[in-house]
This record gives sequence, C-alpha cells and structure tokens, in this order.
Amino acid sequence: MVLALTFLGLIVLRVALLTLGGLLLIRPVRRCPACFGPTVPVLISWLERLTRLEWRWCARCGWRGLARRDRPPSRA
Ligand SMILES: [Zn+2]
Repeated sequence: MVLALTFLGLIVLRVALLTLGGLLLIRPVRRCPACFGPTVPVLISWLERLTRLEWRWCARCGWRGLARRDRPPSRA
C-alpha cells in the first residue's frame, strides 16, 4: 500500500512539474509569429477564468494560438 501511494505521488508530482514547465514555455503574444501582424484575443470564458492563458487570432493570416495573458481579465 505504501509503495502504491509512493508511486501515485511520484506520478502526480511528475504531471504537476510537466504542466508547470509547459505553462512557462507559453509566452505572451502581441504580434503574430507567422506574419508579425497584430493579434486579437478570442474570448473563451473558462480558459480566461481558470488560467492565465488566452487564445489569440491573427486577422491577417489566420494564425491561431495559445498565449500567456499579460493584462487583467476582461469583465465581459
Ligand atoms: Zn499572422
């Protein structure tokens, strides 16, 4: 039982560290990485409420991607 709990704890720790590392890799995006045009945030309420991430869209080339939010959440 102790061994199973230890392995379960290690799995949870591994998932938490991988999630944290992945979130640190996501950076704020103001300019489109494909065409350097301005991007606009797409409102996804649960994503904005639960995380500090937002979905951004480039109107010029259609690029879509996840970005870290660098402004306070909107009050829509
Ligand atoms: Zn673009």
